[in-house]
Amino acid sequence: MINRRNLIKKSFIGSLGTGGLLGLSACEKSSMGPAAPLSYEFTAGKPMPWINWAKNQGCFPAKRIAPQSEDELCELLKANHSSRMRPVGAGHSFSAIVPTEGTLISTDLLNGIISTDSQANTARVWGGTRLHQLGPALDSYGLALTNWPDINYQTLAGAISTSTHGSGAALGSLSSMVNELTIATPAGELITCSASTRPELFNAARCGLGALGIITQVNLDTTAAFNLAQTTAVEPLADVLNNIDQEKERNRHFEFLAFPHTSQALVVRTNPIDAAAPITTFGEEDPTAIYQIREAYQKLGILPLVGEYAYQKVIDFAADGAETLTSGPSYSVLTHDRVVPFREMEYTVPADAGPACLEEILSRIARKKIPVIFPIEYRYTQQDNIWLSMFCEQAGCSISIHQFADEDYREYFAEIEPIFRKYAGRPHWGKLHTLGSQALSELYPHWADFLAVRNSIDPAGRLLNEHLTELFGLTGNAHG
Ligand SMILES: Cc1cc2nc3c(=O)[nH]c(=O)nc-3n(C[C@H](O)[C@H](O)[C@H](O)COP(=O)(O)OP(=O)(O)OC[C@H]3O[C@@H](n4cnc5c(N)ncnc54)[C@H](O)[C@@H]3O)c2cc1C
Repeated sequence: MINRRNLIKKSFIGSLGTGGLLGLSACEKSSMGPAAPLSYEFTAGKPMPWINWAKNQGCFPAKRIAPQSEDELCELLKANHSSRMRPVGAGHSFSAIVPTEGTLISTDLLNGIISTDSQANTARVWGGTRLHQLGPALDSYGLALTNWPDINYQTLAGAISTSTHGSGAALGSLSSMVNELTIATPAGELITCSASTRPELFNAARCGLGALGIITQVNLDTTAAFNLAQTTAVEPLADVLNNIDQEKERNRHFEFLAFPHTSQALVVRTNPIDAAAPITTFGEEDPTAIYQIREAYQKLGILPLVGEYAYQKVIDFAADGAETLTSGPSYSVLTHDRVVPFREMEYTVPADAGPACLEEILSRIARKKIPVIFPIEYRYTQQDNIWLSMFCEQAGCSISIHQFADEDYREYFAEIEPIFRKYAGRPHWGKLHTLGSQALSELYPHWADFLAVRNSIDPAGRLLNEHLTELFGLTGNAHG
């Protein structure tokens, strides 16, 4: 993400902000306007509201529970046998995948490493473990995950439940690292499943959207701890796309962020380094640089005739010499701080369709003069065999569009979503999208298999909420 780069600060945009190089002031037209506020205020006498990280989803759960053991969890599930419930992790999903007016179940107190096997390179971990705890904890046993998402605030169970991924054409999502898991069903029964024991449940629950039960334990495939070096540089997008096959083969992790209304991209290449190599950092990080880019666009980009050109020049100028280098343990190099609130839509298209899909998105933004500056994220992930994974039976290219939380994303996302659909994109379950069960059933070869397992585990629909009811095409059934 650009928001940790010192990209613009060094440019003359600093002077625009403090008096205005061109004597321009921020223009309202460059914004889509604020999104409707979410009104989940704390009110005495009402249940405590729950709100997600992006503050676009919330609810008033009647009850919240955070069991301290699997036994306690199963007892609570049995005691609440008629009520609705939803598992919650760290609330880092943008979609309405968590909200419930029933019982919110957190596995926060089931956290930490249970055991490791360095011969087999596996680690058994409690589902509520936060990813930022997991990296250092595995490292202390000389182990590491093969890949990480962009951030590490999520819980392990929450992350695998939406097939959370990083980038690397030869690397799978977090769900693909699971070789066994234990799940508490709504009836309060603990089931352990793997490729050889209850394989249908295993195929469904490795990305189960919290619709099959409460994941308590996860056995993960790991690797020996390793160090990485990550470089970032702003480069012409055309060059990046011309060399895309070599880039994704040459770099263990390769991704880029394309700047709308320009011909540039921030390219991120991450590769292993020797454990003995010194830990290096070069280039200053600035988690709020994205605000300076917005300011540049608001002051220049919207000008008639010359605006796009002037904005492009700012990005060109700022890009020159803005390279960074960071090295260290894999878990810290691959995950970043996110201090700028935003909303996101991400679709995964078949890997080969990535460049064409991205180019169509960028040209739609330019043609329609959509006032968005948030860079578009572009990543690769290996295929897997997990039924609701975005990478099920096909290698994927995930393309994400973002909008600031203080701007309305709806018009922009509605304009771009049909392009994702045209390329047979599969939506990220934790991010915003508008697909229903008919469209989803055409995108996922094992859609019906998943629904059959869900129905067998939770025939009364106790784990459903409104969003899942619509996704699964169960409208008409009760939900809460
Ligand atoms: C700033 C930001 C950056 C992100 N970066 C990435 C990224 O790089 N790559 C990526 O793929 N995604 C990314 N995401 C999306 C995020 O990883 C997913 O939405 C993830 O599922 C969130 O995990 P969580 O622990 O917050 O779970 P929540 O959002 O709380 O829940 C997610 C799902 O998991 C279920 N769940 C939670 N706990 C359990 C449990 N114990 N048992 C069963 N089900 C459970 C919930 O019911 C829900 O269905 C990002 C999100 C944000 C806000």
